[in-house]
Amino acid sequence: MKVLCLGAHPDDPETGMGGTLRRYALAGDSVTVLYLTGGEAGIADCPPDEARRIRTSEAEAACRILGVSPRWFAQVDGDTLLNRQEYERMHEVFREEGPDVVFTHWPQDSHRDHRVCAALALDAWMAVCGPDVPLYHYEVMRGTQTFCWQPTDWVDTSDVLEAKRAASFAHVSQKIAEVYDEDHGVMERLRGLENGTRSAEGFLRQHPGASGRLPV
Ligand SMILES: [Zn+2]
Repeated sequence: MKVLCLGAHPDDPETGMGGTLRRYALAGDSVTVLYLTGGEAGIADCPPDEARRIRTSEAEAACRILGVSPRWFAQVDGDTLLNRQEYERMHEVFREEGPDVVFTHWPQDSHRDHRVCAALALDAWMAVCGPDVPLYHYEVMRGTQTFCWQPTDWVDTSDVLEAKRAASFAHVSQKIAEVYDEDHGVMERLRGLENGTRSAEGFLRQHPGASGRLPV
């Protein structure tokens, strides 16, 4: 199976759904993580080009840990674009990747880059993917970034927590190790309680069908 996961910034896919990505990789599926930006705005007092160099290298290390392939959409952190050219570029990525399942941000996230990422993904999914390709939204930093969201599906991540943590901690510039237990760890435990497992990641499924259109 071909899995396509979109994230606005390096570390969003890993912290949001790194356990699920690892489970796909362990199952032998081909997983592409498409980063919309290079995290140019994500390191204080660091020039954008240098921040991109550091953060793309951290993301590549994280992807090696998870056993997935990074791909870059080459927009700029904090300055993401939503226009016809970008929609068409995303269609081309979807045609090349040919995903069997798609994951992206929730369109109401507080970060505008996340909303742009979700809009590009939804548009390409509707235009390119067939009716049997599901799209799921993942959550990040619940309470500060993802709001008005409840999962429809859960993945047990109890056996892959070490890989998820290691991939998240690979983003050294983001100091994730300092906040992991209080932020991402609480989310994993909450979703685990809902799922009846020690730990889980939650997902919200878009209306089944390629575009959400009713089949009439
Ligand atoms: Zn982000």
